[in-house]
Order: sequence, then structure tokens, then C-alpha cells
Amino acid sequence: MDLFPYQYKGDQQSIIRLIKKAVTDGRSVVIESGTGTGKTVVSLTGALEAALGTGKKIIYLTRTKSQQKQIISEVRQISKKVSVFCVGLQGRSSSTCPMMALDSDLAYGTSEELSKLCSEYKKKNGSSSSCKFYDTIENTDIDLHIDFLKNEHPQSEEFVAYCKKKELCPYELVKYALPHADVVAAPYPFVFMPHVMDHFIQWLSVPISEMIIIVDEAHNLPNYLRDVMTCEYSLKSLELAEKEGKDWKDPEICKGLSVTDLVAVVRECMDLALSEYLDGDDGVIPSTFLQDELMDRLGMSSVSLTAIYKGLVDFGEIIVSQKKVQHKLPRTYVGAFGRFLMEWSACDEETYISLIVGGENPKFQAFCLDPYEAAEPLRACWSSISMSGTLEPLADYSHEIGLEDCIEETFPTPFSKENLKLLYVDNVSTNFEEMKNIPDTYENIKEYVIKLVRCVHKNTAVFFSSYALMDRFIADGVPELIDREVFFERRGMLQAELMDVVSDFRASYGSVLFCVTGGRISEGLDFPDKDMELAILVGIPFPKPTAKVAALQRYCAFRFGNGWEHAVKVPAMRKMRQAIGRLIRSETDRGVAVILDRRVSTMEDIKVELTKDPCKEVQTFFSYGQK
Ligand code: SF4
Repeated sequence: MDLFPYQYKGDQQSIIRLIKKAVTDGRSVVIESGTGTGKTVVSLTGALEAALGTGKKIIYLTRTKSQQKQIISEVRQISKKVSVFCVGLQGRSSSTCPMMALDSDLAYGTSEELSKLCSEYKKKNGSSSSCKFYDTIENTDIDLHIDFLKNEHPQSEEFVAYCKKKELCPYELVKYALPHADVVAAPYPFVFMPHVMDHFIQWLSVPISEMIIIVDEAHNLPNYLRDVMTCEYSLKSLELAEKEGKDWKDPEICKGLSVTDLVAVVRECMDLALSEYLDGDDGVIPSTFLQDELMDRLGMSSVSLTAIYKGLVDFGEIIVSQKKVQHKLPRTYVGAFGRFLMEWSACDEETYISLIVGGENPKFQAFCLDPYEAAEPLRACWSSISMSGTLEPLADYSHEIGLEDCIEETFPTPFSKENLKLLYVDNVSTNFEEMKNIPDTYENIKEYVIKLVRCVHKNTAVFFSSYALMDRFIADGVPELIDREVFFERRGMLQAELMDVVSDFRASYGSVLFCVTGGRISEGLDFPDKDMELAILVGIPFPKPTAKVAALQRYCAFRFGNGWEHAVKVPAMRKMRQAIGRLIRSETDRGVAVILDRRVSTMEDIKVELTKDPCKEVQTFFSYGQK
């Protein structure tokens, strides 16, 4: 049955056929599909056409809540043709756990801490527990609520509002619905964090071999998996462990060695690593550095050290149990200290690089170079579908994730090529040496930005290759010189603040948005119609040449043959393509991107035209037809 709920456009039918065939055959598929191909609806349609009635479950993984919303909206449309049960799953937060909403101290708890506290709340004392929202579920007609989810396809806020009225826990109620769902929309951690995945599989009541996993924005996945596997510990964490040790009477974890004694020794090791190995932002340390130093300084064997680490973890568990009974956030810094030391000593040299990272809050970091192990669910499931608008070169992605014998295909945007103009200039570059040694490089870039912004009265985004470069522009008063209202994406901005900035920019006319290529604005946010018509990309977002990046390059050279291409060039190219992609979100959108860096001419996936006069080209483009 054809489940596609709209009129086909461009390659949509071909993409659906490809996905349906791959899922039917139990194979994985890796697809780059340009803007306008309707990635969400085509992947859902293809997977559902193959999976409905087979007992297999579609797990649609997203990074953001807005992507999850899109899935539920598309299922609503598909359900007009055939009944599809989709459940949106979110982690515990103040909206999905009403107990948390009542206690602001819990707002910053990790999912693991909240899960522990939840189990404590749910413990029965007679016929009731400490969580009335949980008890209400047990005394209600679950089927009635499952029918509501099945028939109404509520968005998560609608479901939370429904539960609030009935004093039910949304998080627990969703778990009851999962075994009945055809599609589950969930954030990445439900599949890629092993301890969360174990619970998730139990709730779903199907083995992983019966799951079809769709990964949205898959270009982010390799780095996300590296982050998940990376193990690190900072000076501030050490200070917190020290304070907690003192607060709990600084117990001995082995004869003559208290928690604070061990903290002091690890701090000495950190100071030594900083003085001996830090070179710029970070430095490689021998993988056995910390273990050797601890053995040396404490006069202990590795077996005794392991016992000490375990002692810290066990003491942390005592702290956690006491906090749980008091219904406090079950957090332990001493336990986390022990877990770090255990994990650090288990990191193997082939997969991890050991680093000391400098800055205001220095840290030890065992950076995971290889996402292969963490990508295991994509290899163990029935079929996986990885999609993104910027996934080329596809073979690199498949290789990195370890998807053998997968189908790889690229589908271009169905929108007219005439609607997007890509220009670059060849007399500037943000290359570090060039900016430092060639006079006027920075001034020329500045002048280009000012002139380009002023040459047409259009909503314009200036995408900087780094926050540092954007800060330099701001410090030099460029926002005042461009004579337009300027909005800023700031480091570490809360999501709500960022969305306020974005909606003010969208609602304005002829204003400017200073943001960062690879930041939250350049990926995942839509600027249709006149919301953004001109994009200026200042420089190429190559990562800083740190020891970590050098290690990643070496690793990629060993695994894939070309380290620089794989670890530096391809990620930068994807980030730029994402930023440029903000301009054209529908078939009627028109826009120009000007790249202020000559090095873009070597990036084969960005088809740019050289210009000597970008302002004139921009004016000419907009003088033909209005967006
Ligand atoms: S049962 Fe629900 S409301 Fe109660 S603590 Fe757990 S997640 Fe929160």
C-alpha cells in the first residue's frame, strides 16, 4: 500500500522505494537527500511500508524536540491512510516528571541520578509510594490512555498537559504504550547510551534485531558517539570531590589514605601534566601517565589502586543511598571520582588518546577516536537508515560507523539551482598564518562584511568560522559600522534565549545575525522566505590544530588513508553546507551565500563561483525577481 500522504515531488518516490527495499531485505541504507526532499516523511513512509504488520518497530532518533514534533506531525498525516501508532519518548525532565517540577533542586540532575531517585519514589510503603503521579497510573485504566495516544497522536506538550489534568506521570505512562507502538520517536541517548538502551529494549518488548533505526541528521552521529565514549575529569570536579569528602568526615579508603589525600595526589598529577605536556590548548600524555604517577606516589600496585577506585565508588553508593532516602538528588562527587579513575584505567590505547586540556578548568581527557563500538546498535538492528542533507562522502560515514554492505545513495534538492548563488573571493582567507603575517588580511575581510551587509537591504546572517573571530569583529565595533540592527548567537546561550534571538531576527527586515558556522543556528533551524536571504561565511571552520585534532588525523590516516581529509576537511565542508542550507527552505526561496575564504575552491562538494566584486553580484541577483 502506498502510504505517502502528499503528492510526490522530485525523487521522493525513488527514496521511499529504496528505503522500503532495504528494510524488507534487512539491510542498512545511508542517504544524503537535499533540502525539500522531505527526509522525515519519506523515511517514515518507506520504513512503514516495509515494517507494518511484521512486528518490527521503527525507532526514529532525533537530536532536538522540534525534529520529534515533525515526526509526530508526519505520522498524523500517514495515519489518514492507515492506522500508525507513534509514541514520542523524552528523557526525564521537569516536564515529563511532575515530581521534579515540584522540586527545583532536581532540575540539574542527570538522567541516571533522576532514574535512581525515581526508583526510590516508586518504592511501595503499604499500598502507596512516595510519588502520587505513579500511584495514579497504577489505579487507572491504562488502556484508555493508550487509546488516547494511539488515536490523537499528541505532541509531547499535549500529552504532558493531558497527564497533568489527570495527575499521571507522563514518563511512566509512555512506557506502558511502547510495546504497542509502531514508531517510537526518541532522542539519541535511548539507543547509544548502553545503560539507557538496556532499559529501552525492556520497555519496547522487542529485541534489537527486530528494530529499524532511523538516524536523523546523521552527519552529527560520529562525533556524538565519540563524545559519548570520551572519559574526562576536571579540576572543578576534583574540588567538588574534596568538599564532599570533607562533608562526609573524610573517610579512609585504604589504610592511611583518605578521600582528600587521594584528591591531593591526583591534583599534583594534574599540575605535573599541565607543566610537562600542555602545548597550547592541550597536550598528549602517555596513556599510563596517571596510573604510573599514582603507583609511584602512593607506593602501590595497580591491583591496590583498583581496590581504591572501587572503594571510592562504594563510598559514593553510601552517599547516594542516604540522599535517596531523604529524597535529595542522589549525586556523589566522590563516587564520580572513583568511576573516572576506573574508566580511565580501562581506556585502551588503540581507541583513546590521553590528553591534558588547559584553560580555566583544566582536565584529564581520554578522547575516544573511534565511534565504531558505540555505533553497535546500528549494526545489531534489523535495518538502519542514516539520513542527512550533508552526509557526503557517504562511504566515509559508512566506514566510520562500520556499516558493511549498506546501500549508499545521494538525492539532490528538487529546488531550482537558479535560486541559490554561491560565490567566493580569492584574495582573503582566515588561515592563521595569513591573518598573522599578511598585512590587511583581517581588514579586507572586515571591509567585505561591512560592504556586503550594506549592499542590499535583506536579512543577512554572518557565519563566522569561530567564536573567537566573531568576538574580534564585535570588539572592533563592526556591528556599529554596518548600520543595521545586529543579533548575536552567544557561547553557551540557553536554548530559550537563542530562540528569542532567532525569532526577533526572523521578524525583522534587513537586519543581521552574527553566528557561528557549526553552531546551533547554522544547523537545524529554518529561515524560510525572507527570514534569511544573504549568508556571508567568514572563513572555513577548520578545527584548531590541537593535539586532539592531530591525534584524530593520525587515527583517520591509519583507518581510512587520508587523515586530513577525513578529520578536518570533510567536517568543515559539512558545517559550511549546513550553514548555506539555511537560505533555501522551499521552492520559492532565493538566496546568495558569499564565502570569504579562497580555500573553499578546494572543497569539491561546495560548487562556488569566483567573483571579484561580490557586492555587485549580490545586487544583480536580487534585482532579478524577489524572494
Ligand atoms: S514516577 Fe514519574 S513523576 Fe514519579 S518520580 Fe518517577 S518520573 Fe517522576
